[in-house]
Amino acid sequence: SQVLRLERSRRTGVVFPLQKLARYLAPGTDTSRFRLFQPDLAALQRAEALFRSGRNHVIDYVSSAVRMDHAPPAALPEVCFVGRSNVGKSSLIRALFALSPEVEVRVSKTPGDTKKMNFFKVGKYFTLVDMPGYGYRAPQDFVEMVEAYLQERHNLKRTFLLVDGVVGLQKTDHIAVEMLEEFGIPYVMVLTKIDRASRGLLLKNVLEIQEFVKEKTHGCFPQLFLVSSLEFSGIHLLRCFVAHVTGNLPTVEAS
Ligand code: GDP
Repeated sequence: SQVLRLERSRRTGVVFPLQKLARYLAPGTDTSRFRLFQPDLAALQRAEALFRSGRNHVIDYVSSAVRMDHAPPAALPEVCFVGRSNVGKSSLIRALFALSPEVEVRVSKTPGDTKKMNFFKVGKYFTLVDMPGYGYRAPQDFVEMVEAYLQERHNLKRTFLLVDGVVGLQKTDHIAVEMLEEFGIPYVMVLTKIDRASRGLLLKNVLEIQEFVKEKTHGCFPQLFLVSSLEFSGIHLLRCFVAHVTGNLPTVEAS
């Protein structure tokens, strides 16, 4: 709420990090892909309300599953978050739920622990799934679990693929992209930890990944989402996009 009350240019910096970055590009550079999803203040506020729990709006961890037949019923629109281990996924989910501090984002960093899909329910509006982090040593059962989820979950509205904003797309990220492309499901790339990258490096990564998305993908939303869970930049916009893709922002959908 405080961020949304900031004066316009400071607010833009926090809410729309990509637009802030655009100021440093050469004049005439095409930045149309920086602002495809550009909600107004009312939409941002509506999304913020969705992420704030209350007496009649319970936001909570529901359950974990290692197999699809353990997943909760596919009753609500759903979004899922995938990414390499250490990409900043749990920090991001914690930031998204920061207005509801009672929501416990479980993390298991112990090697050898069973990797699980964690389901969170946001009132009667949508579910958010924290998928296990992948890496070079992802076991076969993990790949099968993620594949089965992505292929079978018919209420899945969008997959958020997290990419480290400092190092850009890595080999394992390309494997995830190939999987999402093969299944033909809609996804969006989120660049994490942007506070750790210099402006120049971040712009280079953004432009390179944007070009890759344009040339090599079919199912990826052309606009990248930039976030810092530490500084809270990009979090409001991402909340708003989640609200939008789960059908909870009627005004944006109408426009
Ligand atoms: P996960 O394995 O993908 O769940 O990653 P974590 O959320 O546990 O983050 C991995 C490491 O990156 C931790 O040391 C976090 O403190 C750090 N980290 C996560 N997000 C950010 C961020 O936005 N900015 C900075 N500077 N560090 C971050």
